[in-house]
Amino acid sequence: MPTEKLFYVNQYQTEATATVLSCTPDGDRWRVTLDRTVFYPTGGGQPCDLGTLGDSQVVDVSEHEGEVLHLCDKPLPVGETVACRIDWARRFSLMQQHSGEHIVSGIIHERFGYDNVGFHMGSETITIDYSGEITPEELRQIEQAANEAIWKNVGTEIFFPDAQTLAALPYRSKKALSGAVRIVRFPGLDICACCGLHVARTGEIGLVKLLSVTRFHAGSRIELLCGGRALDYLSAIYDQNREISALLSAKPLETASAAARLKDELSAAQYRITQLENEVFARKAQAFAGKGDVLLFETAMQPGAVRRLADAVLSVCGGRCAVFAGADGAYQYAIGTREGDLRGLCRAMNDALRGRGGGKPGFVQGSVSASRLEIESFFANENR
Ligand SMILES: [Zn+2]
Repeated sequence: MPTEKLFYVNQYQTEATATVLSCTPDGDRWRVTLDRTVFYPTGGGQPCDLGTLGDSQVVDVSEHEGEVLHLCDKPLPVGETVACRIDWARRFSLMQQHSGEHIVSGIIHERFGYDNVGFHMGSETITIDYSGEITPEELRQIEQAANEAIWKNVGTEIFFPDAQTLAALPYRSKKALSGAVRIVRFPGLDICACCGLHVARTGEIGLVKLLSVTRFHAGSRIELLCGGRALDYLSAIYDQNREISALLSAKPLETASAAARLKDELSAAQYRITQLENEVFARKAQAFAGKGDVLLFETAMQPGAVRRLADAVLSVCGGRCAVFAGADGAYQYAIGTREGDLRGLCRAMNDALRGRGGGKPGFVQGSVSASRLEIESFFANENR
């Protein structure tokens, strides 16, 4: 028996009483049908409502042939009256996202002629896929237009036109629809076939923030947030920026240039460190000139520096050079040779010294979890 859908009569109704018509077990849950409901089932791109039926939590709501199925965590007595209550904050947010999506899609359709070819209302952000390419500059213009439309606070119109009226109506729709078509119109902005729930006036959307546009298949994917979700996201970004602002001693609107400056300074410092290290390594290497195989221990260094030191010694020692940088329990290594293949030695060493790494025949690099004593003993005992 089809359920009476109170959400289509008044999308702001959060509570109702209803009679339990059936309650059947479904795994460790119960599937409950009612004579009427305020719970919107998943459909038309809009996630379902959550809430309570009596003291039972509603964890999912779906629709099958006009009947709304409430998936509950506790059974309900058939024939009894039960109080239905939806999570209004969730529902209102979904209405804000859904109406915002229609307005953005309407603006894009009007300006560029692109169709909405995919829509996903996730728990974090909303994504909409369009059939054409949208540039970041166009994204800003669309966002501006969408917010201006919201500020006009136009009333939403929902109606079921007869076949003749429908045929003359320039509405957006993803698929061919049969039966009575429910039209959602934001006057002057968008007309679309939709079974979802919407705010009564655009002003309730509050805010639309278009977060990104990326190429997607032959078109674009836009990521957006509306209403409370947009405010929460922008507040989180604001808090981040405030911390960055304090860390960089930069004004809130100048953090990007301050971060860019810092990055440049860091690159210059890293370049200078490498230059100085190379000078030190070259001097250090001189002590091993003509010494043949060398085993060298150093304090912790970046893997790149370990490699450069091994190279510097290798260029003068006339044998194999192994550099271990770090402390007991955690050494980075770089080993080079001018002849032969180090990879067998490297595998044996990784096995013996709890290490990882590898490389080319003439050069291997990695790390071991061993003490200096264990490393020295490994090299003293190895078969050359
Ligand atoms: Zn819709």
